[in-house]
Amino acid sequence: MEKHAFTRRNFIGAGLGATIGVGAARGGSFAGQDQVDPTKILNYRPEMEYRRLEMTDTWLSVISLGGLVAVESVYHYAIDHGVNTVHMADGYLGGRAIETLGKVFKTRRKDVYLAVKDTFDDIDVVLKQLNTDYIDFLMYPRHKADEVDDPEMLESLEKYQKAGKVRFAGLTSHGDVKAATAAGIESGVFSLVMPVLNQPNLEAMDSDLARARQKGVGIMAMKTMKGIEDDNLQVGYLKKVLQNPAVTTVLKGFGSFEMFDSYLSAARETLSAAEDRSLYRHAQANRQSNCMMCDACREACPNGVEISTILRSKDYYAEQLGDWETALETYRGIPAGKVGDDRCLLCGDCEPACPNGIDIVNRTTAARRLFSAPPAPGVLGHSV
Ligand code: SF4
Ligand code: SF4
Repeated sequence: MEKHAFTRRNFIGAGLGATIGVGAARGGSFAGQDQVDPTKILNYRPEMEYRRLEMTDTWLSVISLGGLVAVESVYHYAIDHGVNTVHMADGYLGGRAIETLGKVFKTRRKDVYLAVKDTFDDIDVVLKQLNTDYIDFLMYPRHKADEVDDPEMLESLEKYQKAGKVRFAGLTSHGDVKAATAAGIESGVFSLVMPVLNQPNLEAMDSDLARARQKGVGIMAMKTMKGIEDDNLQVGYLKKVLQNPAVTTVLKGFGSFEMFDSYLSAARETLSAAEDRSLYRHAQANRQSNCMMCDACREACPNGVEISTILRSKDYYAEQLGDWETALETYRGIPAGKVGDDRCLLCGDCEPACPNGIDIVNRTTAARRLFSAPPAPGVLGHSV
């Protein structure tokens, strides 16, 4: 195992951060899956769990590293502990994240599967930044069911695959998550889909996850801890997500190496009845503040305001994670006219459409106030 110069310190205070993903194959195998053959697993380490991604005949590590990372030692630590999947986009952290991963790939590219969100203009520029010739999973962002097989996307995929620059297609969704993911699963185009799987969505998407398993489509669950701040509850929820055999890997932000270690341990443990009860109580108590990104509110809004993105920027990135940089980047990425501002009529039509009963108008108004006068750097910190 490679050794790298890091200490077991909490690095939230140092302004560092990472995102970790988790899937599971318990004790070397998982219900309904083959016994793990270590020789078939990329970067196999006995302390890590792995699940088979059926359509690609690959095994993904139960913990995989997400893209909001600009710290080389985090990547090395995760890979040294058996992580074999990473996710990246060119815009994360203003480009610092991809630059960091490119440095890591000078020595570690062979150890991991690379998933990249298709947010770039030129794939060759991205490949060069990452010090690689190919992407394992090109993740197409699709936020509506009718966008999952548009001809332009299929054409680009075919071109990249013929050129050997992309191996498989994936889908990621931040809007109308349930419908877009379900359509992606049925399409036959994607081997891996990446839905938001926070507490309300895990429940709402149960049948979609089962269908993914039937079809052999992998699930890379992201933003699982959205709405859960307590560390013990997070670890419990990790176990709960992993109990679902459809889930291949789960993305999770972590703020310290100790936290990574606790997630790694949890990935091998069974959810207790007490943990499950605590999670249920938390889900019930927090339903009205935990947006599941279904976009029912946007459909009801006469101006199509991108409410779920506004809430994600404020409630999740800024207030829960303290990741001001990503919060601001995401909020400012909302197209003009869709961010509310003077276009929000304060009509409240969005609120009855929300299945979680979220007080949308108050929250979007607070978001506009927050982002129109951003706090000074360091006030909210940066932890993802
Ligand atoms: S209150 Fe604003 S965001 Fe909600 S439906 Fe009316 S215009 Fe849209
Ligand atoms: S605010 Fe409610 S309706 Fe809108 S995306 Fe979130 S959960 Fe869905």
